[in-house]
Amino acid sequence: MLIRRAEVDGIDGIDVRIGGGRVVEVGAGLARRNGEPTVNARGGALLPGLHDHHVHLRAWAAARSSVRLADVRTPAEFDRQVRDAAARADGWVRGVGWHESTAGDLDRHRLDALTGDRPTRIQHRTGALWVLNSAALARTGAAGSTVDGIERDPAGEPTGRLWRADDWLRERTAPARDPFPATLAALAAEATRFGVTRWTDATPGRSDAETDALAAGWSARYPELVVMSPPGTRTDVPGLRRGPHKIVLDDRTLPSPGELAAIIGESHAAGSPVAVHCVTAEQLVTFVAALEEAGPVRGDRVEHAGIVPPGHAARLAALRVAVVTNPGFLADRGDAYLRDVPAPERDWLYPVRSLLDAGVTVAAATDVPFGPADPWVAVAAATTRRTGSGVVLGPDERVSPATALALFLTDPDHGGHRRRVAVGQPGDLCLLHTPLAVALAEPSAEQVRAVLRD
Ligand SMILES: [Zn+2]
Repeated sequence: MLIRRAEVDGIDGIDVRIGGGRVVEVGAGLARRNGEPTVNARGGALLPGLHDHHVHLRAWAAARSSVRLADVRTPAEFDRQVRDAAARADGWVRGVGWHESTAGDLDRHRLDALTGDRPTRIQHRTGALWVLNSAALARTGAAGSTVDGIERDPAGEPTGRLWRADDWLRERTAPARDPFPATLAALAAEATRFGVTRWTDATPGRSDAETDALAAGWSARYPELVVMSPPGTRTDVPGLRRGPHKIVLDDRTLPSPGELAAIIGESHAAGSPVAVHCVTAEQLVTFVAALEEAGPVRGDRVEHAGIVPPGHAARLAALRVAVVTNPGFLADRGDAYLRDVPAPERDWLYPVRSLLDAGVTVAAATDVPFGPADPWVAVAAATTRRTGSGVVLGPDERVSPATALALFLTDPDHGGHRRRVAVGQPGDLCLLHTPLAVALAEPSAEQVRAVLRD
């Protein structure tokens, strides 16, 4: 295929030839070969396809068939939405995005009053917690289960709150036929609309069965897929590339730096870099100390780096550990941060500029479905750092739109290598309607004209 008259690296009038899945020629005035399909870029920018470096495909698929509670403003609004969902549902009621700061505290009793006998589960905005009503607790056998994470009252009865028990819950709520493969096609179509040609699925604790389910639903026409996987799980799945070992830190069960260093060391010894989830200051401080003790390997990453206290950018740079940040949260959750995050830490939220200045490799991700699915929303948010209500969070951390876009073209797993449209590079490309400077004046997925894969 010949793409004509594109803007490549800021230069207009460039032709790009793709063959065998790779870019084979880049230059002005390439002659069209007999029968070669051509695309006239009409001066639009040609970029490498975007890589969304941290997504959760199964949760994203499930979120599409759930009631979205993220925009609820009051407890009464929450009650109304959940009650309406119960009236519509013919099986489980499933809600996502609940947060106590707007919708109020939640346990089985409040849910029982809303949905009665209909089994109901509501996920906390962070993904760390599910709340079940009594019908759902009965159906899943939670009262008699010994699995970790089932919160109980002093009498030993489940409160309805289940912490990080997703696998356990999924096994007990799965429909007879898994709808995931069909939904994956819809997710791929949506990603294509955004110019995404590569996903890294960051779901922790992935089993071989989960990898098989992904592989079974995946097609070569979908974005290329990197799957984070614990050491010891299978690697030989066609179409899928193995990613680092995802480690989730939780303030309620935070290991000591020494304990975490041992876990990291084991993973490194098994040949797997680590991707460590750090959203609070405590988690990041613990992780940095642990990695200093264990010693880093190429490909180690911090997921989110939600709060980076002073001094830690330099330590991350010295460790050469990449940060995969989520600027989209500033737009989506910024006003909740203003309410919930104490004043000094607010300036340390989801930094970008200070990390880059310190020499840290920074890449970006949407964390869909926990953040907005559109990477261009994240690009805009990294540029303005504006919350929904218009407050600018950490103005010194703003970056130019070009720098923000580059966060989706940077490879955190290979030393921060920046992908480019160049000979030998994969033929996974994103063509915009306009030159880059025009597109970035108002970053939006509307600017994406076409995506080429292989
Ligand atoms: Zn995540």
